[in-house]
Amino acid sequence: MTTQNILNKYNNSELISLKEGVDLYNNMPLADLLYVANEIRQKLHPNNIVTWQIDRNVNISNVCFVQCTFCNFCRKAGSEDSYTTTIEDYRKKIKELFELGGDQLLLQGGMNPKLGLTFYVDLFKTLKQEFPKLKLHALGPPEVAYLAKKENKSFAEILEILVHSGLDSLPGAGAEILSNRVRGELSKGKCSVEEWLDVMRIAHKMGLYTSATMMFGHIETIEERIRHLIYIRDVQGEKLKNVPGFNAFIPWPVQLFETKLGNEKQISPISNTEYLRMLAISRIMLPNVPNIQASWLTVGKNTAQLALHGGANDLGSIMIEENVVSAAGANYSLNATGMKKLIESAGFIPKQRNQRYEFV
Ligand code: SF4
Repeated sequence: MTTQNILNKYNNSELISLKEGVDLYNNMPLADLLYVANEIRQKLHPNNIVTWQIDRNVNISNVCFVQCTFCNFCRKAGSEDSYTTTIEDYRKKIKELFELGGDQLLLQGGMNPKLGLTFYVDLFKTLKQEFPKLKLHALGPPEVAYLAKKENKSFAEILEILVHSGLDSLPGAGAEILSNRVRGELSKGKCSVEEWLDVMRIAHKMGLYTSATMMFGHIETIEERIRHLIYIRDVQGEKLKNVPGFNAFIPWPVQLFETKLGNEKQISPISNTEYLRMLAISRIMLPNVPNIQASWLTVGKNTAQLALHGGANDLGSIMIEENVVSAAGANYSLNATGMKKLIESAGFIPKQRNQRYEFV
């Protein structure tokens, strides 16, 4: 397939098949992939703007029964250094967040088996009562699926209760690679592919803003990566036109420093060019997902700048706090000034946004 073939397909609203996607990944020169991904990005966002956000990534607890082999953050219940974030900690963190100009907490697990639906309901309600302007971008399909089993409720019931308690939007966390083979090896105990997708289908029906992620570069095949993109594209294609669905896709390379997976298997880190290739393919394969986010935290600032010329139109959050990926070796940092400079020096106009991708 040539770059012109891909653009013709895009212009005619024709989708790229699994076989074509794998072929592009394996055979198209990187320069061509970046060119065509950038053309599609320019058609979707013809304004030279790159968006970014201020939020704070807080982990509710570091106790997690899942024990993913790529996770260096989780602890077993009873470990000396296990914790559950207290309400005093939240107050302090939220005040700092507001002082820095942000208004959103990205609240993530571990999936601590001691914490049930009542805990999350009380937590969300308390935070919203004390900080009415706070936005909660919280949990994800694995937590929703887990709570549904634990509480003997449907995914829809769990989501409705969480929304009623203060959930504003649902992150696409825990997708890793949407392959039950891969999930069985890396994160037994997390929801299946079908469950992950079903939670998102229901969230979309309810009108929730969601995102989708992909953590790649471990034991998955190229075909499994492309199939992951097609799952996201299909679920997005099923949603009603008047709801947002997935408003962003965020591919990022696994970080394996001192993790069980990294210690047990010889896995070479994803190179910058392979990351750019995956990001460009994501833009090309997902014409119905409006925003592609470059992961500066995992690939560094220079590669993130290049990604803005190869399909990405967003750099995500400055991440006042991040614990999970940082515990596995990702140690880049950015403040608001640094983020704006990064975008400007890549040749774009920075615009701060909220979770709905509205400029603020
Ligand atoms: S990645 Fe998340 S779900 Fe997996 S073990 Fe770590 S905290 Fe738990």
